[in-house]
Amino acid sequence: MEERGSPDGDPARSLEQGPEGPDTPIQVVLRVRPMSAAELRRGEQSALHCSGTRTLQVSPPGGGPDVAFRFGAVLDGACTQEDVFRACGVRRLGELALRGFSCTVFTFGQTGSGKTYTLTGPPPQGEGVPVPPSLAGIMQRTFAWLLDRVQHLGAPVTLQASYLEIYNEQVRDLLSLGAPRPLPVRWDKTRGFYVEQLRLVEFGSLGALMELLEMGLSRRRSSAHTLNQASSRSHALLTVYIGRQTVPPVDPGEAPVGGKLCFVDLAGSEKVAATGSRGELMLEANSINRSLLALGHCISLLLDPQRKQSHIPFRDSKLTKLLADSLGGRGVTLMVACVSPSAQCLPETLSTLRYASRAQRVTTRPQAPKSPVAKQPQRLEMEILQLREENRRLRSQLGQRDPKTSGLSGGRVAWAQQNLYGMLQEFMLENERLRKEKSQLQSSWDLARDEQRVLAQQVHELERCLLSACSLYQPGPGTAPPCPCVMVPAPPCHPPLPPVPSTTGPVGLPTEGAPPAPDAWPSCPRQRAPVCPAPALRAPLQPWLCQMPKREESQRLDSDPGPGGLADGGGGGTLCTPPTHGAPKHVAGAERWGCSPKPGPETGGPQRPNRQLPATGPEPAAPQ
Ligand code: ADP
Ligand code: MG
Repeated sequence: MEERGSPDGDPARSLEQGPEGPDTPIQVVLRVRPMSAAELRRGEQSALHCSGTRTLQVSPPGGGPDVAFRFGAVLDGACTQEDVFRACGVRRLGELALRGFSCTVFTFGQTGSGKTYTLTGPPPQGEGVPVPPSLAGIMQRTFAWLLDRVQHLGAPVTLQASYLEIYNEQVRDLLSLGAPRPLPVRWDKTRGFYVEQLRLVEFGSLGALMELLEMGLSRRRSSAHTLNQASSRSHALLTVYIGRQTVPPVDPGEAPVGGKLCFVDLAGSEKVAATGSRGELMLEANSINRSLLALGHCISLLLDPQRKQSHIPFRDSKLTKLLADSLGGRGVTLMVACVSPSAQCLPETLSTLRYASRAQRVTTRPQAPKSPVAKQPQRLEMEILQLREENRRLRSQLGQRDPKTSGLSGGRVAWAQQNLYGMLQEFMLENERLRKEKSQLQSSWDLARDEQRVLAQQVHELERCLLSACSLYQPGPGTAPPCPCVMVPAPPCHPPLPPVPSTTGPVGLPTEGAPPAPDAWPSCPRQRAPVCPAPALRAPLQPWLCQMPKREESQRLDSDPGPGGLADGGGGGTLCTPPTHGAPKHVAGAERWGCSPKPGPETGGPQRPNRQLPATGPEPAAPQ
């Protein structure tokens, strides 16, 4: 089986991709319409079979070998208008047009093959009878998509439309305010070929664009002939111009980026003999065929690898002039080739298929207008927009910092400043308060540590005192008196102090070599054996209640009978008073230790010192 066409690449992808490099092939989609009622009535057979989504098989009625053609997509008679719209990837073309590219969709094929139907749907069945939306063609569907897309762009877009026909090699404005009159086609370096004085109508809604389409369709020349009751007698070009300011222009004078989307409904080639055209119809048919021949010739030459050196005769017809950019220039082009399935139309169909096969090997060099911004991918455009927005926001924030440029009233600025200043002051006061508290804690801790040292020192002295007191009792021969003293250290009136790094070791415990702590001494079973140390050592002994028999007391302490020093405390006990170097000294010592000079309780228990702690109350922790 012979196969023609371009088998390369995935059709859907290639159609969706748009420009893929400097040379972009024209995309071709083939649509086979269903057999018409007239064809079926005549008992005509189908000569075409779709094989897969991209291949069309042609079976000659004479029984020759099948011929296969491959296109970007092949759609059979069962495909709906929506299927065609999707398969053609027109949305992608629309996106490219929004980015400034010049995009063209044109239908091509024999008369009555379904070109107009594919682009604009069937004609209304009567006055005021609307065409069902499901039958709307590529153009209406694209317009609906485009208007919706533009609404969600978030950037200003201006939309304009022009609609013209080439009838008998004359360009006529289908949107002209008066009766259509021939318009000249001119050329200049920047615009290429263009129609002078063509009316561009700005529109802002889908409805307005549809009205323009209806207006043009109604003014377009059509006639009835054997193959088509509403045969288009002209090539019609409807162009939507998209003026898009993609980002706010850096230079205020910068022109907006302009893309366009052009729909070309070609008049069908026809064999005058087959259509039975006479008179004016024949003139029209000849004109149509001539322009289509010129188009085919240009396409053939464009396929020439040496085409850069060759001259492409675009000037040979108005049609080729106006399609020059779409075919060999900077445009992005899609061709929808339409064919009838009838075996009776096979010669025309094969001609169309060969034409379309050649066309899909034609490449263009798509180029958006040379706006530095428009050339950037959409992602970068978005980034630029975001950055500009961020800059604007930052600038406005900066402006707010500066009262001169912030636009805030003086009162509000003062209020804001006062608030900040007030908070700052509060923080400073809080800091100051915390600093004081910390220093108080520090001094309490120092004081406690000093007292701890003194206590340790006293314990040490006490031990020495006890040792020497014990040495005064020399047991007589044969007698072994019990230990004469019992010393009960006053229990602390506060929790234990933290350890102090000192050579005395832990609180209350002598360091190595020192006498054992009082608790460790052997206690006297009689519970009465007061020991009053030497006067110099009395003060440290105040915390202890010394209980001692009067006799022993007088024996030992008569050398130092300070006032009250040996007063009977009652209860069988003697209060061991501070040194007797004068009352003030005594009082001072008592106060210092919080020890009352009065006798102890009847029970004879120890008089507990009431040590003065810092005013803060609890035992200070070591400062951090
Ligand atoms: P062309 O524009 O190629 O000359 P038309 O689009 O006018 O042909 O179609 C010719 C006739 O065939 C019209 O009556 C049209 O409604 C009908 N027709 C074309 N394509 C289809 C289709 N896919 N499905 C149904 N009817 C179609
Ligand atoms: Mg038509």
